[in-house]
Amino acid sequence: MKKKIFHGEIQPEMFARALIAEFDRGNFLARQIPTPQGLIVQIATRPQRQSGGQTGLTISIDRVEDGVAVQIGDQSIFGVAASLGSTALAALQNPFSLLGRLDDIAQDIESLQLDDRVWETVERVAAAHGASLQLSERLRRLICEYCDTANPVGESSCIACGAPLGNVQPLTCPNCGFVVRRSETICPNCKRPL
Ligand SMILES: [Zn+2]
Ligand SMILES: [Zn+2]
Repeated sequence: MKKKIFHGEIQPEMFARALIAEFDRGNFLARQIPTPQGLIVQIATRPQRQSGGQTGLTISIDRVEDGVAVQIGDQSIFGVAASLGSTALAALQNPFSLLGRLDDIAQDIESLQLDDRVWETVERVAAAHGASLQLSERLRRLICEYCDTANPVGESSCIACGAPLGNVQPLTCPNCGFVVRRSETICPNCKRPL
């Protein structure tokens, strides 16, 4: 999963603050860069740290109509896999060499799980602010095509004139929160069947 849209009263800065609090310490450093649509958070391993390979990750956090879209870029890995590989080789030749490498292994595994840890943080922030992969209350009201009355989503017919509302009901992908048309059978964002 590379992109999720959180609907509700939430701002990109709320995600950035939490990501920096979580990742700008220990073996990692994190910083935020403003963009026209929101901001970017970059997380990278510190150059002078003790162990493991290098890695970096960019997270784009954009304002969208009804909330915030969070996208995680491809993780660039410099020497993480190589570091794990040389450990395996050294361990074959001399099992005792593994003892001196345990910190490296732990650090490389921590680095490889960076994506998952970023999503955990992002989802915790969204939940704390009541944002979700569902449409917010504002978009949950839809306008009758015949009489322009606002109706709650889920209503099968207009509360004012009784006309059927099936055509105007919006949907979101339950997997990633992307707003989809009723005619779509595959989510255009995450490609899962709807
Ligand atoms: Zn109506
Ligand atoms: Zn989706």
